[in-house]
Amino acid sequence: MASFVARCVARPPERRDVSRTGTTEWIRTTKRIKARDGHRCTWVDAGVRCSGPADEVDHVIEHIDGGPDDDTNLRSLCLPHHRAKTAAHANRTRWSKAARRRTPPPHPGLVGGGG
Ligand SMILES: [Zn+2]
Repeated sequence: MASFVARCVARPPERRDVSRTGTTEWIRTTKRIKARDGHRCTWVDAGVRCSGPADEVDHVIEHIDGGPDDDTNLRSLCLPHHRAKTAAHANRTRWSKAARRRTPPPHPGLVGGGG
């Protein structure tokens, strides 16, 4: 038992990698974007802007697709709209990956064979 306590006490603090969105700079950016957008969701559907709160800051062009962290690519969204947009992006990505898998390159043994 004593050794268990000793291990717990002696263990060095866990090193946690701070995510890109966990930095003070990102937090400052989200505050600025939300203020710019009037602390309201900017989603527009059929010409009507969502009346939800600015829960999160969204990349118009996803960061994973090369979208920058600058203000022109950022907008405030409510949680439901951010989730819907993220899910739609994930679906598109999944479908395009599946499409690439469906068209494999021709097998080298079959190219020009024809029999
Ligand atoms: Zn919304």
